[in-house]
Amino acid sequence: MREYATQMEAARKGIITAELKIVAKKELMTAEELMPLVAAGKVVICANKKHICIDPQGVGSMLKTKINVNLGVSRDCKDYDIEMKKVLEAVNMGAHAIMDLSSHGNTIPFRRELTSKCPAMIGTVPVYDSVIHYQRDLNTLTAKDFIDVVRLHAEDGVDFVTLHCGITRKTIEQIKQHQRKMNIVSRGGSLVFAWMSMTGEENPFYEYYDEILDICREYDVTISLGDACRPGCLADASDVCQIEELVRLGELTKRAWEKDVQVMVEGPGHMPIDQIAANMKIQQTICDGAPFYVLGPLVTDIAPGYDHITSAIGGAIAASAGAAFLCYVTPAEHLALPNLEDVKQGIMASKIAAHAADIAKGVRGAREIDDRMAEARRVFDWEAQWECAIDPETAKKIRADRKPEHEDSCSMCGKFCAIRSMNKALAGEHIDIL
Ligand code: SF4
Repeated sequence: MREYATQMEAARKGIITAELKIVAKKELMTAEELMPLVAAGKVVICANKKHICIDPQGVGSMLKTKINVNLGVSRDCKDYDIEMKKVLEAVNMGAHAIMDLSSHGNTIPFRRELTSKCPAMIGTVPVYDSVIHYQRDLNTLTAKDFIDVVRLHAEDGVDFVTLHCGITRKTIEQIKQHQRKMNIVSRGGSLVFAWMSMTGEENPFYEYYDEILDICREYDVTISLGDACRPGCLADASDVCQIEELVRLGELTKRAWEKDVQVMVEGPGHMPIDQIAANMKIQQTICDGAPFYVLGPLVTDIAPGYDHITSAIGGAIAASAGAAFLCYVTPAEHLALPNLEDVKQGIMASKIAAHAADIAKGVRGAREIDDRMAEARRVFDWEAQWECAIDPETAKKIRADRKPEHEDSCSMCGKFCAIRSMNKALAGEHIDIL
């Protein structure tokens, strides 16, 4: 019998859980160093007690930056087998979390398959699933219907749920008054907004937050406080709608902590580079250091087809300034459901952003592999280079495709190879160029 309900409660009671031990080892920390961070809410260990096969991860700005991969079927692309294949490949490529955003068919078997087979953290957005689950129009759903779906996801072993608790009836007026260019671009946020508009009632995820906290406490589900008003274009970045919601998310964070419920806070969105670091600092201040989970940020609006790059630029800056968790973005963003190749491109871009940020932040153990790569490059140890590479298969393929005449160079410069020339010069050897 567990003497605690959540990882946060355990840490507050001084109990070293099996999950905390594993996370501490991965982060090159002692359990004693990690425990106060979990107790204070600065690190979350998203591990629903019913997700038995989980390989626990910690999410917090002082830990290695984690990455999330969004998957799930839609009405137009509805093959659950293909989606499961993408999930397993995503985990092999390094995804720490999978968010199931399925919006078609019976979502229960896929969700249960995820929490019985997938070692990554599993996240969902219950408000999407509510319409699908009940097969009824949005305006016919009741507050109780929404809460029951949160409970269903908790019982199914989901580790974190995105809940758009921060928009209220006041937001309806604000959105009308401030005339944002892109209004609300959060899928869940737009559903909550639409439900409030049609029913005239308050946001159920805000109104019945205490009930939700009780469910999350029972199963140790981490709440990822959704940012319904995240900017969907540069023009809407850091506007009053975004900041007003963030203030409410800060209040909701503290209410969750009073019940030992773990919390992450979701963030932008689209944002010019010069606003990113300030946004991270504001979030950390308002939300008392709760881990920030950013959806990008995409640093320009004009690169459809390349938004894995626009978001990797923003993600690297955000994580180096304090964000803890990056939601990947694929080249298909704004265009289509990602296929397997898009998923790969999105994961690699996010991994690069996360790693670059970890080096800048001085996260333990982050930098050593870069120094090993430099050493391997200097001595032309190609096998060691593949071992250090984020995507060795692609690197090997490119080299094999355009092979050089000699192993101690590549086909870029051949005998003009600077590394080769310097190695020879410093060893006092003759340097043959022609
Ligand atoms: S040939 Fe040029 S690009 Fe290739 S390893 Fe040498 S210096 Fe680098």
